[in-house]
Amino acid sequence: MEIKEYVAMRKQQIRDEVASMKVRPHLAIVQVNEDEGSNSYIRGKLKDAEELGVLATHIKLDVNTSEAEVLKVVESLNQDSGVHGFIVQMPLPKHIDENKVKVAIDPRKDVDGFHPLSSLKACTPRGILDYLKFNKVELLGKNAVVIGRSNIVGKPMASLLTKESANVTVLHSKTSPQDMKFYLEHADIIVVAIGKKWLIDGYLFKPDAIIVDVGINRVDGVLYGDVKPGQKVRLQTPVPGGVGPLTRLALYENLMEIMKHGI
Ligand code: NAP
Repeated sequence: MEIKEYVAMRKQQIRDEVASMKVRPHLAIVQVNEDEGSNSYIRGKLKDAEELGVLATHIKLDVNTSEAEVLKVVESLNQDSGVHGFIVQMPLPKHIDENKVKVAIDPRKDVDGFHPLSSLKACTPRGILDYLKFNKVELLGKNAVVIGRSNIVGKPMASLLTKESANVTVLHSKTSPQDMKFYLEHADIIVVAIGKKWLIDGYLFKPDAIIVDVGINRVDGVLYGDVKPGQKVRLQTPVPGGVGPLTRLALYENLMEIMKHGI
């Protein structure tokens, strides 16, 4: 089954589950920026909600809203029993402490999976893990390399792979070129989340290695991954269209978990 068919099948399953629920799932999206990237992500999330039959409320606050006001909105959503899950779209304006906002969200409603106490997986790593499982990629005892150590991709990805019993190495901007070469040569699974067009190229890989390219780099209106296409490996995810549809769906997979296991 192609990834597209798999996503379509999961969407249909979620649609059916939603239709059979007594209470319609309700997602709220709080936005406190004028960021073009965020506008486009939110448009996508609202479109997905409509497609899946999920009720979605977009709460757009002025960019000058104070931190205290944003925290008040978060608290009111925590208390609102009619809202099952919500996200605060990042980035936030500089006068607002992102970490304060992230930990203010009730972990039981944290569909993004950012809260340290959240039992849900962070969306992007969740989508990547779904992708690896869909492709029946063996993880137990395998050498996994994650390039990038951000809180939203690299770190939670490394943690999920560790839970799957892979041998995980996290590389970053301070990794020497020699070490980068060494770890990549020995890797079975490589997840790249750097944010620089085609930075990964010219390395020797195991022929049966799997490369998951998480990078989304827009250059002159065209999207590129972090890995140059055409690496000699068993599977390299394309950009766009690789893991994107699954990482996007992960938000609703998390919402379904909240609906099923109660809040
Ligand atoms: P980020 O917060 O900027 O983190 C980038 C990471 O890459 C950092 O850990 C950094 O290392 C590392 N890095 C930078 N230059 C490097 C180099 N030359 N060699 C090795 N590592 C290097 O970015 P992010 O939020 O994790 O996002 C990464 C990419 O994924 C972006 O293109 C973003 O658009 C994309 N993304 C995709 C999805 C999706 O759903 N598909 C979701 C989120 C993000 P240091 O820690 O040492 O600085």
